[in-house]
Amino acid sequence: MALRTILTAPDPRLKKKSKPVASVDAEVGQLMDDMLETMYAAPGIGLAAPQIGELRRVIVLDIDREEVKTGPIVMANPEIVAASDEDATYEEGCLSVPEHYSDVVRPAKVTVRYLDRDGGTKEMTCEGLLATCVQHEIDHLDGILFIDHISALKRNMILRKLLKARKEQERDEADGKPADKPKSKKKESASAI
Ligand SMILES: [Zn+2]
Repeated sequence: MALRTILTAPDPRLKKKSKPVASVDAEVGQLMDDMLETMYAAPGIGLAAPQIGELRRVIVLDIDREEVKTGPIVMANPEIVAASDEDATYEEGCLSVPEHYSDVVRPAKVTVRYLDRDGGTKEMTCEGLLATCVQHEIDHLDGILFIDHISALKRNMILRKLLKARKEQERDEADGKPADKPKSKKKESASAI
């Protein structure tokens, strides 16, 4: 397994559409393992392959909250085949949009069809945080970030702040200063996915 670098917005690779995998072969299995390791290290509860620069339709999840404990879930070519009319709102965060959180409205319940680690076709009905997380990760495969679901005003403000933070970090690195750890503590309700 290998730890991979997580891309942050605004990186053009995060806006691209990912391609389906032909099958879950050893190489895709390795990618899934690397993604899980990278997600746990971040730490986050979900990760999509384009977030590590691999434009392939692979996502991983592991929600460990009081109300939901899923254990590791890996999905190749995930596809939403049914969605509820009822919506749910969650405050979302993203490993590719560090330190920013916003309420996003999505269908409360979805059914996902996907290939599992052994290449078998599976279907899973997801509710609550898992439903949010799965939809957030599938969005990544289509080049959509959670900030694309909020107002343009707020999105542009977040993107400007991310760009400024990146420039400051690059300047500090050029000056030989050690990279700062993010100062603010993540809010309990927010999820980095
Ligand atoms: Zn994300």
